[in-house]
Amino acid sequence: MAEAAQEAMHVRCHKLRLALFFSAMRHFRDGLRTRGIEVVYHELTANPAEDRGANFGAILRHDILTSMPERLIVVEPGDHRVKLALEAAAGAAGLDLEIRPDRHFLDTLPAFRAWADGKKTLTLETYYRQLRKRLNVLMDDTGQPVGGEWNFDEENRASFGKQGPPEDPPERRFEPDETTQVVLMMVEQRFADHPGSLADFSLPVTREHGLMWLDDFISRRLPWFGKYQDAMWTGGDFHFHSRLSFLLNLKLLDPRECINAAINAHDRGEAPINAVEGFVRQILGWREFTRGIYWLHMPGYLESNELRAEQPLPALYWNGETEMTCLRESMRNVLEHGYAHHIQRLMVLGLFAQLYGVNPREFHDWHMAMYLDAIDWVSAPNTIGMSQFADGGIVGTKPYCATGNYIDRMSNYCRHCRFDPKRASGKDACPFTTLYWDFLGRNIDAFRRNHRMGFQVKNHDRKNPDELAAIAARVDEIRAMCAV
Ligand code: FAD
Ligand code: SF4
Repeated sequence: MAEAAQEAMHVRCHKLRLALFFSAMRHFRDGLRTRGIEVVYHELTANPAEDRGANFGAILRHDILTSMPERLIVVEPGDHRVKLALEAAAGAAGLDLEIRPDRHFLDTLPAFRAWADGKKTLTLETYYRQLRKRLNVLMDDTGQPVGGEWNFDEENRASFGKQGPPEDPPERRFEPDETTQVVLMMVEQRFADHPGSLADFSLPVTREHGLMWLDDFISRRLPWFGKYQDAMWTGGDFHFHSRLSFLLNLKLLDPRECINAAINAHDRGEAPINAVEGFVRQILGWREFTRGIYWLHMPGYLESNELRAEQPLPALYWNGETEMTCLRESMRNVLEHGYAHHIQRLMVLGLFAQLYGVNPREFHDWHMAMYLDAIDWVSAPNTIGMSQFADGGIVGTKPYCATGNYIDRMSNYCRHCRFDPKRASGKDACPFTTLYWDFLGRNIDAFRRNHRMGFQVKNHDRKNPDELAAIAARVDEIRAMCAV
């Protein structure tokens, strides 16, 4: 096992992400050693001169020389770049690299490929339904979906209304033990200029912590998860989301136990079907689907740029400084917790980058740096595909694009903002609304060829030249504002 400096530096990783990964790895190592398993482990220290090598390939080459192994076995890596590095190091040493399936997923990559084979388009819905049937998840004795429907999406889009959200359950905290404290000190010294702060580190770093965290979600948040899945509110960081993604991606929790815990809560009458199905859909559906898509389309997927977006990422994505309340609130969550929930990622941070025309690879790299749960296999289909539509329709058949009115409907952000979500031009115009029309205009030829964009294209065609000129003038002001 190795802590590789390049993994922390190839994108300037959030300090919380570094500390979480290294602490979880060291605890896992210690657990193995307690069970009598020999582990060669490369720790990073505050002094780069002590590194065994910059990346996994170099460290593996070092270990091959010192250990003279007969063969090499790894579990499927979560990043194509890492897979190539390991294969190259093994090849250079004349050793075969046996890659074993990762059992921390519900589906296998060959089964995904077989399902995808020959299909013109791959949709989440068809994948999700066949996987539920194949694995017999939330199916009744007659072979029908529990609750009589495959999905309860319509019941999962409530806002918090005027009165605001029910009180958020308090966050469960785990005080750093000695192992974590050593990691915190190392990260603070070595990666001092990285974003984020470790002053209040209280994340789960072991499987035992993970199980308590899961339990906490099931009993205190799951019942409201479905209904308020898309809702946002100032000051609300997690609401009823699970924050299980980083524990799943670090393999401290297994997707089966998360799904089963939710289904058991439903069986006990403690969580409604729309919440439980919504949760199962995210893990059994989206999580498995994104993994399949990643390995089907790598290499090359990361360089997709269907809409030829080339703008640099605005500075606010690093420092959170902006007058736009929705972005400021979402960035506060990212900077304080290495987290934002799905709608903040998709319909605030991702939407703004898409409308602004940020280069999708740059957006992806930023995402990889800033989130606790970012691993290439899951981040890429979400950033490059779902959020930026840079893959031209592999993950979603049309861009998730909207004006500020969507954010106004799903949150109270606009009530605390100096901009007006209804206005597309003038000093008070909401940058989302202005950029929405500009985005449609920039890509109108491509969108005319996409029948699912017909409504948006028609609305754009209705804009008169004066309106479009006023919008164009405001776009220049917004770009100038975001460049600082
Ligand atoms: P919940 O809302 O509680 O959902 C439960 C679980 O379902 C999550 O823990 C996660 O494992 C799974 N899940 C939900 N949505 C997705 C999805 N779209 N794709 C895959 N799994 C999903 N998720 C990551 O794990 N890592 C990433 O790097 C990542 N990057 C994203 C980038 C963008 C631009 C977007 C729009 C989404 C991204 N997601 C990513 C998916 C999703 O937003 C996060 O999994 C979720 O917000 C994590 O918070 P949670 O655990 O509270 O999720
Ligand atoms: Fe965001 Fe626009 Fe609403 Fe302000 S008005 S919070 S910028 S959507």
